[in-house]
Amino acid sequence: MEEGLFIPQRVTKEEIFTPGHRACIGCGEALAVRLVCKALGKKVIIANATGCIEIISSLLPRTSWRVPWIHTIFENVGAVVAGIESAYKARIRKGKLPEAAKEVKFVGFAGDGGTADIGLQALSGAMERGHDFLYVCFDNEAYMNTGIQRSSATPYGAWTTTAPVGAKQPLGQLTWKKNMPEIAVAHRIPYVATGCPSYPLDLMDKVRRGLNIEGPAYIHVLSPCPTGWRSPPNMTVELGRLAVETGVFPLYEVVNGVYRLNFDLPELKPVREYMKHQGRFRHLSEDAIDQIQARVEEDYARLRSKAGL
Ligand code: SF4
Repeated sequence: MEEGLFIPQRVTKEEIFTPGHRACIGCGEALAVRLVCKALGKKVIIANATGCIEIISSLLPRTSWRVPWIHTIFENVGAVVAGIESAYKARIRKGKLPEAAKEVKFVGFAGDGGTADIGLQALSGAMERGHDFLYVCFDNEAYMNTGIQRSSATPYGAWTTTAPVGAKQPLGQLTWKKNMPEIAVAHRIPYVATGCPSYPLDLMDKVRRGLNIEGPAYIHVLSPCPTGWRSPPNMTVELGRLAVETGVFPLYEVVNGVYRLNFDLPELKPVREYMKHQGRFRHLSEDAIDQIQARVEEDYARLRSKAGL
């Protein structure tokens, strides 16, 4: 049983994101989507930006979706989900939809590229205008479906095809990961959380909370990607756990501006424990790893302080 703030609820056996899709073996993002969809239930409309999940799930006439689902381009999932929500509201007001339509919830899905880079403007606008929707970012830390190009969510030091490692540039990614949850918090929306499929009950609980809160809700889900992270496919769940246990990806919620750390670890494991299983960090020197360790500890301490710990 996970610790934290989990509210026990039944987990449905029904698959809303069905098997038979074309994700790579061990894909943490497909696992995360499956769990998120179980928590969403069937009374939802999902707008999904271009990215791995869209590519693997929707080669028409085949589809893995058992709920209304629309593919959007990278730039505009925030605008599309806001538009659907507004249209529903207007048609309900005019009596053009039945009462039952009031139960429908609106959800945006995107990867880190579609969220932190290309789709940030549309998402920011939707959050600022206060649309009633849940947005879930499935963060695999690069543009994986187009060939492992860096995004602003790629961690410092990671190899990607556009942050290559060589004699002149031994580091890989030269910038620190953009903190999307904090950007969402800065919009003063009622609910922001981080999640990971390695903590399935915690993740599904947060999805239910975000779905049922009135106004914009944002959940940032770390989604291990064996293909881009150069990690063994059978280590996906373990890597998600190590990300949390090392403090690289803390699990927390911000409800109406109040921070709550879901797993406050008395002692963090060294980041090396997380990084050593991933080929994308294999080139890093001891000094570079020490630098990352210091940054993780600094960020974790800041988060604990925000949570009043
Ligand atoms: S590239 Fe990564 S995120 Fe995309 S389907 Fe493969 S394992 Fe999943």
